[in-house]
Amino acid sequence: MSKNYLKNAKLGTKVINIGIDSDPAHGAVMPPIYLTTNYTFEGFGKKRSYDYARSGNPTREIIAEVIAELEGGVGAVMVASGLAALDLLWQDLPGNKRVVVPHDCYGGTQRLLNARAKQGLIDLVYVDQGDDAAIEAALSEPTALLLLETPSNPLMRLIDLEKLIALGHKCGAKVAVDNTFLSPALQNPIKFGADFVVHSTTKYINGHSDVIGGALVCTTPEDVTTYRWWANCVGATAAPFDSYMTLRGVRTLFVRIRQQQQSAQAIAEYLAGHAKVKAVHYPGLPSHPQHELSKKQQAGPGAMMSFELAGGVEAVKQLFDVIELFSLAESLGGIESLIVHPASMTHAAMSPAALATAGITDGLLRLSIGLEDSEDLIAALDRGLAQIA
Ligand code: PLP
Repeated sequence: MSKNYLKNAKLGTKVINIGIDSDPAHGAVMPPIYLTTNYTFEGFGKKRSYDYARSGNPTREIIAEVIAELEGGVGAVMVASGLAALDLLWQDLPGNKRVVVPHDCYGGTQRLLNARAKQGLIDLVYVDQGDDAAIEAALSEPTALLLLETPSNPLMRLIDLEKLIALGHKCGAKVAVDNTFLSPALQNPIKFGADFVVHSTTKYINGHSDVIGGALVCTTPEDVTTYRWWANCVGATAAPFDSYMTLRGVRTLFVRIRQQQQSAQAIAEYLAGHAKVKAVHYPGLPSHPQHELSKKQQAGPGAMMSFELAGGVEAVKQLFDVIELFSLAESLGGIESLIVHPASMTHAAMSPAALATAGITDGLLRLSIGLEDSEDLIAALDRGLAQIA
C-alpha cells in the first residue's frame, strides 16, 4: 500500500482512502479513469508501467488493491464476472485435478464446473458440506482444491469456515471461499486460513446493480502473478469503466451493508411472526440453527434471507401479482430490494429431485434487502401477505 498511514487504519477507512489523491498529472482527488487501449513506449525497449489494457490498467489496479485490502489478501485479480474469477481457479491446479465443491453452490458455478469436468480439466466431487461424515470422506484423498460457499443460497445454511478450511488443508487442497453473499464487510475467510476468496463484485461490492464483475483475491504473490497471467491469457480482465464503477460503488460498502442488515433483521422478525409464513431462514434470528456460528465467523447476519409461504406455490403466484417495492428479479446485493422464487427462477435448472434434496420448496421466496426505509418494506410485505390465501 502506497500510504503508510493507512497500514493500521480500519477497513472502513481503507475502503474510502485507497487511491484518493493519487493522480500525479493534475492532483485529482478522485482517481481518474483510464479508457485507453494502449500506452506509448518511451523509446526502443523502454516500456512504461502499462502497455496494453488487457494486461494492465491503472483504474483496475486501484479496485484490485481495495478488494485485496478488504479481504486481507496480498493481491486481487479483477475480471469480467464472478464466474470468470472462479474459472481462473482451475486453470493452474497443483498436483492433481480433484476439485471438491458444495452440492448446493450457486447454479452458474455448477454449470461451469460441470462443463470443465466434461472437458477433462477437473475431476469434480460434489459434497454436502453440512454433513460432517460426507465432507470427511470427500477429503480423505489428495485434493487440489476445496471450494466453499457460505451462507448457502437460498436457504442461508452456514458452514464452519475454520473447521472446513483445516480439513481441506489436511488433504493437501488449497481452499477458496466464495464470499459474495456477505462481502468483506461481514466475513473475511482469509482470517480462517482460506487461500483464495472469490467475489461476484456484481453484488455487494459494486452494490448498485449496474456492473457485472468478479475478483479473485490471493494470499501469495506467486498466486497473484499466476492468476493475473491467466486472466490476461484468456482475455477475462475487467474493463476500465466497470473497474471505475465498481470502485465508486465499493466506497460505500460498509454504510450500505450496515443499513441493509438493520432492515433485514427487522424484516426477518416481522416475517417470523406472520401466520402465513411457515419458516424464515435468516442467521440473525436466534431460531436459525447456526445463529451462534454466524456470530463467531461473521461480523453480522447480512441482508439476504429466504422464507416459506404456508400456502405454497399458489400463494407465491398471488404475492407476485400484488407485491410493491420489491422487484421480481434475480441477482442480489444492490441498493434496491428484490424478491425471487428460487424454484422457478435462480434454481430453475435443478431437477425436482435435486430441489427436494436441497430443501428448496415451491413456497420458498428469497429476499435481497436494499436501502429503502425498512418501515416501507415491511408495510409492502404486510399489504402483500394480507392479499394472499
Ligand atoms: N457466486 C455467487 C454466490 C453468486 O450468487 C453469483 C451470481 O449470482 C456468482 C458467483 C456469479 O457471479 P457473476 O454473475 O458475476 O458471474
